Formats: sequence, structure tokens, C-alpha cells
Amino acid sequence: MDQDLTYKYRPLRFEDFWCQRGIVTMMPRIIESRSLPRSTILTGIWGCGKTSLAELVGQKASCLKVTERNPCYECLGCQFVDTRIATYGGRFKVYGGNFKFDELQRFCNNCQVYPAPDPYHIWVPIVDEVQFLDINIQQRVVNLLDSIDTARFIFCTSDLNKVEEAIRKRSQIFEMPTPTEEEAVVATLAIAKAEGIPVTRAVAEQIAAAKTNNPRDCTNLLQLMKGTGQTSLPQDDDRADRLVF
Ligand SMILES: [Zn+2]
Repeated sequence: MDQDLTYKYRPLRFEDFWCQRGIVTMMPRIIESRSLPRSTILTGIWGCGKTSLAELVGQKASCLKVTERNPCYECLGCQFVDTRIATYGGRFKVYGGNFKFDELQRFCNNCQVYPAPDPYHIWVPIVDEVQFLDINIQQRVVNLLDSIDTARFIFCTSDLNKVEEAIRKRSQIFEMPTPTEEEAVVATLAIAKAEGIPVTRAVAEQIAAAKTNNPRDCTNLLQLMKGTGQTSLPQDDDRADRLVF
């Protein structure tokens, strides 16, 4: 079976995001200037790149090569990312839909016991889809947030209204943009070319329109086209909109 294209083409560098506005461009500088807020909320529609950006921030914060804009993925810091107890590597991710508070607490306890990794001296706990956590758990997360100086929490959510006010109040909130049509078309064409899927610009425009420029949806549609060998979409807009091959 083909490798999942969303995973294969996930952004590993800041310039890999489908749109390069605002937060995506600013983030490396925020980390380098050591001004990553104690708590950040990344909000935006499903599939727009929130989690990828959070992971990339955690990766960069763990990379020992300070001269690079992007993490190198080779140094000890990069290699030990996601390790829950490590001298190097400061990123840890939990998912709201399958959340175990104990795991986050254990990581946070380690943040207090072990020195934070060079060069930025921070740990980056990531709570993905935080709106799935019930109110009591969100409050317990706030208590952790308040108690660990070296942690820079990143919360991702596709529904900011369901994030507890206590978290929102403590956080710098960034909205992740959805790409423009042109950005979605360019990225769709690039992936199609790399995968050897014969997609014309007109078809890429149809894909972007049918999937409202959403990176994950466009990529999933390309995956379906690759699997079925189809190189065009149904002409009827209504059908294209609900397209299921
Ligand atoms: Zn590195």
C-alpha cells in the first residue's frame, strides 16, 4: 500500500507550510529570540497545519544547531525528541481525544527534575485537540502550566470556544490561516509532480476549490486519485464537492 501522502509531505521545515503568513514565518524568530510564550494556542480548521507547526516548534526548540532556521533532524537533540526522560530533546505530544493526564504529568515532573535541553532551555509539551478534554482536566493542565517555569505549552484546537477560559487567558492565541487558492494549487501541483500523478493546473484548481484549499483534504484527494489512477474530477461542481472516489 502507498505511504500516506499527508504524512510523507508533512512540513519538516518552516518554509514547507502551504501558506507562509504570520505565525509560520514568525515562529522561528520567536524561538531564536527566546520569547516563546509560556502558553500558546494554535487555532484553525482541521488539517490546516496546527499540529505540524507545534511539532516543528518543539523540534526546533530541541535542536542543538542554533545557527539553522530549521531543525537539523540529525543532532542528539533532534534525535531524542519525544523521549520522555532525556538530557536532550524537549518535545512531548499528547492528543486530547486519547488523553492520559498521568503521561503529561510524568513529562512535566521530568521537566522539573532534569535540566532543560540546550540551547533554548525549554521543554515543549504539546496538547493536541485540547477542546476534547473535559473541564476538570483542562483545569489540571492549567495547574501544570502555572507550576513549571521551563515549559512552553502549545495547545492546538479546531474549536477555540471549547477551550477553558483559564487556558485562553494565559495564552498567546495565534490563528493558523487556511491557504489561498493559489497557495493550494501550487502545493497540490508540487505533490502531484513528486508522486508522478498527471494533474494539470486546471485539475489542481478544481481540487483546491472542491476542498476549500484545505491542505490535508487536498492531499487526501491526491492520494485517492493516485490509488484509483484517476487524473480528473467530475465536472459537476456539486459532485466534486462531495467527491468520494
Ligand atoms: Zn538538530
